[in-house]
Amino acid sequence: MRIARFSIDGNVAFGAVKGDPASGPGGTDGLVVDIIKGVPFADFELSGTKVPLDKVRLLPPVLPSKVVAIGRNYAAHAAELGNEVPAAPWAFFKPSTSVIGPGDSIVYPSFSREVHHEAELAVVIGRLCREVPRERVKDVVLGYTCANDVTARDTQQTEKQWARAKGFDSSCPLGPWIETGIGLDAAADLAITATVNGELRQAGRTGQMIHPIEDLVVSITEAMTLLPGDVILTGTPAGVGPLHPGDEVAVTIEGIGTLTNKVISRG
Ligand code: MG
Repeated sequence: MRIARFSIDGNVAFGAVKGDPASGPGGTDGLVVDIIKGVPFADFELSGTKVPLDKVRLLPPVLPSKVVAIGRNYAAHAAELGNEVPAAPWAFFKPSTSVIGPGDSIVYPSFSREVHHEAELAVVIGRLCREVPRERVKDVVLGYTCANDVTARDTQQTEKQWARAKGFDSSCPLGPWIETGIGLDAAADLAITATVNGELRQAGRTGQMIHPIEDLVVSITEAMTLLPGDVILTGTPAGVGPLHPGDEVAVTIEGIGTLTNKVISRG
């Protein structure tokens, strides 16, 4: 099931996205949302009330208490920035205020001259959990969505902590929805791409991750409790590169969908 969060007539709701877009993958025409009674983190029912997806505004599919992101989890990406691969998963935070939804604008930060896209598979946590053993990871994952770990690369290189480089407002686009029908095995072998203005920039497979999803959840929850709606960004394949105001960046993950955002200057 594809679970979206959206607003319509000033109300916010979750819904199950149904149908196939007539214009092909990435399109929204012909899709409908069946409004969910309640929230998707518990048992829920579909209301049967269906609204065309074109008539709603998609929001970030979750409002995470925290986004835990993993650095250098693809060898080719670590190499392109001249970095070693860490022996254990290497986590950092992106704040809740960095999250934006599909179609929202990435606002170029005032302090940077070099902002990069990083296409990533995002894991959405479905239940409160800590110290999760490897064999229970499948029970705490609600599903998967697309993410863009937008990074002020120049700031990342001059500041030891990445709070500003990777935590500025609008630096964490998520969406377009949560795909709950993908199991851990399937999630471990999905095509992931980034395009800028339609031009292919990143193309990898989640199977290239150095530390797989299970290891990331084990490692993170050794240290902290994850709450329903928390998000793990699993690292980016090679091909990161600059974004400029006016650009349109799209992250597509096989079996999930396409997350598209425009880059704008600060007004
Ligand atoms: Mg990243």
